[in-house]
Amino acid sequence: NREIHLASRPQGWPTADNFRLVETEVPTPGPGQIVVRNQFMSVDPYMRGRMNDAKSYVPPFALDAPLDGGAIGEVVAGGADGINVGDTVLHGLGWREYALLDGASARRVDPDVAPVSAYLGVLGMTGLTAYAGLLDVAAMQPGETVFVSGAAGAVGSMVGQIAKLRGAGRVVGSAGSPAKVQRLTALGFDAAFDYHDGPVRDALKAAAPDGIDVYFDNVGGEHLEAAIGALKLHGRAAICGMIAQYNSAEPPAAPRNLALVIGKRLTLRGFLVGDHGGLREQFVAEVGGWLREGRLSYDETIVDGIGNAPDAFLGLLRGENLGKMLVRL
Ligand code: NDP
Repeated sequence: NREIHLASRPQGWPTADNFRLVETEVPTPGPGQIVVRNQFMSVDPYMRGRMNDAKSYVPPFALDAPLDGGAIGEVVAGGADGINVGDTVLHGLGWREYALLDGASARRVDPDVAPVSAYLGVLGMTGLTAYAGLLDVAAMQPGETVFVSGAAGAVGSMVGQIAKLRGAGRVVGSAGSPAKVQRLTALGFDAAFDYHDGPVRDALKAAAPDGIDVYFDNVGGEHLEAAIGALKLHGRAAICGMIAQYNSAEPPAAPRNLALVIGKRLTLRGFLVGDHGGLREQFVAEVGGWLREGRLSYDETIVDGIGNAPDAFLGLLRGENLGKMLVRL
């Protein structure tokens, strides 16, 4: 059995030196365990983050131990509830030829439905990422304009096609080479561009002159900035990944921790008070009640005279107010 260990933690872009090929015995299963001869293993962008010694939504890889990740293969020894030798199973111990695991942490799949590799892609984690991110997180509606970055990759290529199949009005993708751009057109994207050709903002403007309703972000950075600019009123963005910064040794521009939006599943939603006038009566009744009952206090900083209004305003910007800054006329 051969497996890949993490030999050292990459600084910036990983190099071959960070990995080590190690030979071990083919494992022997204990009770309830299976041995899987892996046929395919997945490599995924999130693994780069796990190579750092940093707290995240998945623990870091250990040094001098095999890496892990999605894999599929055939059970060659052992057995567990509902899993027998000869079955094809999906599991989390990739980066090795033979995996030993509890039967309970493997999922049987039907190899006749699709080639087994599909369970690591279109019918697997990346396919579900696209489907859930587009339809659930971004709540794409028929007729909407969708922009997806990383569009020729595993997730992005599904996002664009699912959008079209679910009735998107216009689907725009960005990718990193002319061949990829051509592929996107063949896949049915309405427009596609190579982000190396110039500012993303300009290319997006040309591809979606009326703006976009949904942005599916795989890249972050300049792509996210351009998409925020292009999003229409009440647009939505599914923040899936920020691959442009995974290998960066320098922190990105502030907010430097923007990628935490993903791991923490945050919703950052803009709003304007003017849209919420329907709450006014309820607001006045409830807050007015707290005031009368002495359960709510408020501060005011009062500047006297119209002539001091500019000073009041400048004082506000300088922080000279406690509570609401007012001018008494
Ligand atoms: P891909 O198949 O899309 O492969 C990664 C692609 O990223 C490359 O092919 C490359 O394409 C592109 N890329 C690399 N560097 C840059 C850069 N600096 N700027 C723009 N594009 C770049 O991978 P996946 O489909 O597996 O993952 C796509 C994204 O989705 C990643 O950000 C990943 O972290 C995220 N993800 C998130 C999940 C979640 O649960 N939130 C689950 C799965 C994936 P190109 O030639 O176009 O540059």
